[in-house]
This record gives sequence, C-alpha cells and structure tokens, in this order.
Amino acid sequence: MSLKSINPYTGKLIRSYPEYTQKKIDAIINATHQDWQKLKLTSFKERSVWMNNIAKALITEKEALGKLMVDEIGKPVKDAIAEIEKCASVCEYYATHAEGFLEDELIETEAQKSYVSFQPIGIVLAIMPWNFPFWQVFRFVAPALMAGNAGILKHASNTSACALAIERIVKQSGFPENSFNAIIISSSKLEETIKNPLIKAVTLTGSTGAGKKVAALAGGLIKKTVLELGGSDPYIVLKDADLQMAAETCVNSRLINNGQSCIAAKRFIVEQSVAKEFIKLFKAKMEAKKFGDPADTNFHLGTMARTDLRDDLHKQVLSAINQGAKCILGGYLPEGKAAFYPPTILTNVKKGNIAYNEEIFGPVAAIIIAKNEDDAIAIANDTSFGLGGAIFTKNIKKGETIARERLQAGSCFVNSFVKSDPRLPFGGINESGYGRELSLYGIKEFVNIKTVYIK
Ligand code: NAP
Repeated sequence: MSLKSINPYTGKLIRSYPEYTQKKIDAIINATHQDWQKLKLTSFKERSVWMNNIAKALITEKEALGKLMVDEIGKPVKDAIAEIEKCASVCEYYATHAEGFLEDELIETEAQKSYVSFQPIGIVLAIMPWNFPFWQVFRFVAPALMAGNAGILKHASNTSACALAIERIVKQSGFPENSFNAIIISSSKLEETIKNPLIKAVTLTGSTGAGKKVAALAGGLIKKTVLELGGSDPYIVLKDADLQMAAETCVNSRLINNGQSCIAAKRFIVEQSVAKEFIKLFKAKMEAKKFGDPADTNFHLGTMARTDLRDDLHKQVLSAINQGAKCILGGYLPEGKAAFYPPTILTNVKKGNIAYNEEIFGPVAAIIIAKNEDDAIAIANDTSFGLGGAIFTKNIKKGETIARERLQAGSCFVNSFVKSDPRLPFGGINESGYGRELSLYGIKEFVNIKTVYIK
C-alpha cells in the first residue's frame, strides 16, 4: 500500500509514498530511542544552537517549503510562506525561553533542599493533520526537542512530502541524528506504534473522532495524551460593535486557510438589532474574496485540501439548507477538477441545524441571530466544542468580562480573531480536547515533573 499526494488544484498525482512496514517503523523507533539517550544529556545551550539552525533553514528554504503546501493541499502561496516564517518564530521562541521555563523550582520544606525538576520523558508520537502541515508539527517539535524529548511524526496521509521535508530539516540542524523521525503510514495501521513501549506519550491534532480513538488506546496503556481537536468557534457581534471592523475580522477568520482551520470563526452570532446591517457588510466582504490557482498571488483562496473533503462539505451545506437554512452566497460545486469551494453564507441557522451543531471545515459561514447579549452567549456556549471564541463590542470592559467569565472555550478574544501565538497557551476544552501547546504551558506537557528531596 502507498500514501498518495494528489494536487487538489490539478487533480494530478504528485507522488506515491510506499507505507513503511512495521519492521521498519520499529527500527526507526529503536534508533530514535538510542539517540534520545544522547539528546537528554545535551545542554540547553547546545539545543538552542540547533533549534536556531532549524529556524534559519526554514527561512532560507521558505519558498520551496511553501510550495510543498501549495501542491499538496492547495494552500495559497502567500499563506504558505507565512506559515513557514511562523514555524521559524516558534523555534526561536523556544530556543530562547526553554531553559528558563524548565529551570528547577525550589520549594521550601523542612528538608535541606527540595525542589521540582522537569525531566524529559522519551519519545513522543505526534499525529498531525494536513491543514497547517508545518505549523502544527513545529509547535510540537520546538518545545519537545528543547525539553530533551525525541519525536516520531505520523503526518496526515496526504502530506508526506511536508513530513519528509520537516524530518530532513531537523536532521540537518545538529540535534542527534535520530532525535526526530517521520514514519509514512496510514492511521489505520498506527495501533502497533502507539503500543510500542518506547513511545511514552502521544499528541494528536485532528478531528474529535480521531482524538477519541487515540486517547482510548493510549489511556489503556497509561500513556499521556495531548489532544488538539476540532472546534466550532462562535464569534459574537453585539449591537454596540464596530460593524465594519467586526465584518472584516469575521470574514478573514472564516476564510483563513480556505476555511480549514480549527480556530476559524465558524458560527457568527449577531444581536438581532444589527443583524441586517452586519449581514450586508459581511456578504459584501465574502463576495470580494476570489478563489483560483493557489500558486497565483492574485487570489485570496486556493482549493480545499482534497476533493472528498470538499464534497463532504457541500453535503453539509445541502443538509443545512434542507433543515431550513437560507444560502445567500455560494453553496455550489464549481465545475472542473480543482477542489474549489466558494465563500458561502448560510443565514436562518437555528438550533438543531447541522450548521449550528457540527464543525463546518471550509469557507462556509453560519449566521445565527440572537435576541440579546445573554441569548448570544447562551448560543455560543451551546456546543460540544470549546476551542476559541470572539466578542465584538466597543465596550471593552464588558467584552473582557464575557471573554474571561462567560464564554466557555480555551481562548477568547475581544475585537480580534482567535490566533495562535508562541507566547500564549493554545488548546481547548470539552470535545475540542485537552492539554496545551505553546508558551510555558506547552513545554511542560511532556516532562516528568519530578520532586527532588534532600533530607
Ligand atoms: P483527522 O482525520 O482526524 O486526521 C488528523 C491526523 O490523525 C492524521 O494524521 C490522521 O491520519 C490521523 N488519524 C485519523 N484517524 C486516526 C485514528 N483512528 N487513529 C490514529 N490516527 C488517526 O483530521 P483532519 O481531517 O486531517 O483535520 C481536520 C480536523 O482537525 C478538524 O476537526 C480540525 O478542527 C482539527 N484540527 C484541530 C486543531 C487544533 O489545534 N485544535 C488544529 C488543526 C486541525 P490519516 O491522514 O492517515 O488518516
């Protein structure tokens, strides 16, 4: 069996990658374990130099690496290059801060000396999605290697070129050669790898369904997991919002990465009294976004990552319409081989509608009208997810209170779209997952928080 990378713009096969046998994967895990023995003894200073080498290589090769994403998933070229730059920034961030984050913490007790030390745990398996094929991996790799852990990457089946490029860049950086390896294998054959005793923990970024399966298996083996899963982020537009700015921000957030981002705005909950005006502004801005060849910088949107994902999205849109939603923009399958989907707006979305309940992973906005502020917050929280959320209001104090105390999600932003930033923790609650990536919190997920006590 082989994994196929198919260009979603041309529909052509880029390359087939034969899947690794279990024997080969076991050998890779053994080699990774061997080199972890060396890695864990290295100093933060050495690791910093190597991590900065990774950052430099990313910047030097950003055009070529970006092109891999253009080809494998139809990401617009400008966004692809920006993604590589962001990966370099997370490498630099942890190169600078890891030592401070993992410094021993002295705690006074009756002992002569007692403290907490943060020790590496070994090999962490990273199961990653295709939507940000570099960023999702680097936000794991940078803290993991800086903490002295080794990594095995199981990337999405359609992004093998990205996986192998990341492996190459890490290998060239100076870290012990097998500190980080990619394995080319489909998710259906991953069980043996998760069960391998040398794999100490698993981090998965992907769908809630995949998260549940991996967490159940890893949990049965008492292996820690971090889960970064799906979301249906609510963006609340209150009647005192700057509607122009809110519409602009909401459109940009909905369409980021062709609508395929876990933290894209997905449900727009608008107070009744400004709904008509907001929808008018929102529609004009959505209409202005054009899709076309992802390698051509004149287009805002490329294709979706795969034709089957595009077709599934269209089915969701048709079901939403069937259940009473009104499609006021887009909502059709463009002709031709390319996996395009047009910017689409669904209004009249109510509780029970598929666009209210499910994650819509594409350039489709669901607009829900709320009676008032309390109703808007209740609707926002009426979801099984809890990744991000945003509130638009000119009353900053009120916005902050809603963000801090009333919206149930891992990240809540006021008058801005939800974004990840190396300095801030990132993750969800409920079916959006658990654990945190990035910041001080991210690097502490996969360490042995060890108590040392000297009488
Ligand atoms: P997916 O189908 O869950 O795939 C993600 C990764 O998990 C891939 O490597 C996939 O491998 C693997 N996988 C799938 N089922 C598995 C299983 N049963 N056991 C082990 N591994 C399994 O998700 P996707 O369609 O690629 O990505 C979209 C989803 O990811 C959305 O729900 C999105 O919201 C979520 N996401 C969340 C975040 C976040 O930070 N919270 C970020 C990005 C995306 P194969 O490709 O081989 O199946």
